Amino acid sequence: MSEPPGLPPLNPNGYRDTWCGQVLEDRVGTTARVAGWVHRRRDHGGLIFIDLRDRTGLVQLVFNPDEAGEAQALGHRLRTEHVVSVSGAVVRRDPETVNPELPTGAFELRVAEAKLLADAETPPFEIENYSGEVGEEMRLRYRYLDLRRERMRDALLLRSEVTREIRSFLDAEGFVDVETPVLTRSTPEGARDFLVPSRRQQGSFYALPQSPQLFKQLLMVGGLDRYYQIARCFRDEDLRADRQLDFTQLDLEMSFVEVDDVIELNERLLAHILERHGIEVELPLRRIPYDVAVARFGSDKPDLRYGLELADVTDLLRQTEFNAFRGVVDAGGAVKGMNVGARELSRAELDRLVEEAKELGAKGLVWAVVEGGGWRSPVAKFLAASELEAMNGALGAADGDLLLLAADEAPVAASVLGGLRVRLAERFGLVPGDRHELAWIVDWPLLEWNGEESRWDPLHHPFTSPAGELDPADPGAARALAYDVVWNGVELGGGSIRISDPGVQRTVFEVLGISPEAAEERFGFLLEAFRYGAPPHGGIAYGLDRLVALLHGSESIRDVIAFPKAASGADPLTGAPAPVDEAQLRELGMALRAKQPRG
Ligand code: ASP
Repeated sequence: MSEPPGLPPLNPNGYRDTWCGQVLEDRVGTTARVAGWVHRRRDHGGLIFIDLRDRTGLVQLVFNPDEAGEAQALGHRLRTEHVVSVSGAVVRRDPETVNPELPTGAFELRVAEAKLLADAETPPFEIENYSGEVGEEMRLRYRYLDLRRERMRDALLLRSEVTREIRSFLDAEGFVDVETPVLTRSTPEGARDFLVPSRRQQGSFYALPQSPQLFKQLLMVGGLDRYYQIARCFRDEDLRADRQLDFTQLDLEMSFVEVDDVIELNERLLAHILERHGIEVELPLRRIPYDVAVARFGSDKPDLRYGLELADVTDLLRQTEFNAFRGVVDAGGAVKGMNVGARELSRAELDRLVEEAKELGAKGLVWAVVEGGGWRSPVAKFLAASELEAMNGALGAADGDLLLLAADEAPVAASVLGGLRVRLAERFGLVPGDRHELAWIVDWPLLEWNGEESRWDPLHHPFTSPAGELDPADPGAARALAYDVVWNGVELGGGSIRISDPGVQRTVFEVLGISPEAAEERFGFLLEAFRYGAPPHGGIAYGLDRLVALLHGSESIRDVIAFPKAASGADPLTGAPAPVDEAQLRELGMALRAKQPRG
């Protein structure tokens, strides 16, 4: 008998010889044995109907006093989530009792024999319905029950499928799957490290890797040529956004490559994965320089499925008498605008937009509705007719259009409008659900100025190769051989060609304010390795959780991780993090200064 597509093979044994989801036409007239959990139970006087669930689906069991014999008594006792093994004849249901919702809905199994394998307490929430009524804390506390739900099971099956697709593609491309250490030294991805105290070397600590960055570079020095790993990474961050303290990267690195080589292979990899999930990908993907992305979309991960592009109107306002704009322009800032189209927003809604802009970091937001070529706007009277006309032109504005303008330092003005762009597209229903836009963001700045700390920080990490010369006198001008890939406004992955020349690396450290001693102390082993012949190399890493969540249509990466932490960073299932015994601390040569708060 053939197995329907998608069903895993089953090795028959005493518990079962058939998957629940396999009780279909070709089984009619045979005897089948299935095993699983009681999903639903209906007692119709003499007849008891049970939907039995296993990983493949549901099948209806019928306990009929005339046929079930001794099993009938068990049928009466069974409650939801009890585990049973049952055998009986597979029959077609009466036409009026067919359930079109279920793949097995036209068939049922008439129980001849049944065995209870495990009792179950009443679960704290229903497994049957997945409607968001159960709080996440509760779902995580009883994650093993949550995982019995179809949606969660599908998420984990999908995840397993995606990793299989990744492996089969990369294996065929000659990549070697290598594991790198979890107990290691700090890796410079810019987050806080998780530290693990050493018992043998008291006072010293391992750091958990924020990424396998340094090891994958060492593997290239080691001659592996093409490496990949589905790697756990650890970053001690506040979990505001949809992040996890431990998360998974698809990490890869290649030798003797330039930007185009890495991009070419990776877009084929992405197409390989996405096309298996019904998403057409046209190659080569579009490449958008970072500056263009920020100028047009106000974001380094632009959602390209809709317009609402930004325009820079700074030059039109150099002479304006409107102080709020003029002050910013004179100080070297920018005025950026976005034409939102013909939208009727109430005054209260417009006021709310201004508030949202402030949440996004703006000092203010100017709104205007174009009317008869002029503006209806609280600031219209401060602007000359010629300025209004010029701005309308730059923004492609027609009568009735709503314009939004932000004046600030250029990056702030762009990111405020970029943030509003995403929210408004959502609000106005401009996001086409069936369209997918993938693009590379290229030509990144190498560094960004950290005003708080008065220093240059790497935009990616300190091993990213500059494009061309890095002039220590003007570090802000340096570009990086870096690339991010963005899917529908979400950053899927990012990487770069690495520095493999010790001289260039020295200059970068110098510009970053990392002294030769500090560099030696933190990354000496890598710098030393580079003295023994480092091939040119580069790579990329993807957030695997995010990729699977997008494919699954989940809002949260927690839905595609078997045992995630709650937003608080705690694990309600195991109770981690948890206090440890005095004795354990003593062994580590440690003592707590003050009692740590619990929970
Ligand atoms: N290690 C980098 C990261 O975690 C990725 C890369 O440069 O390959 O973002």
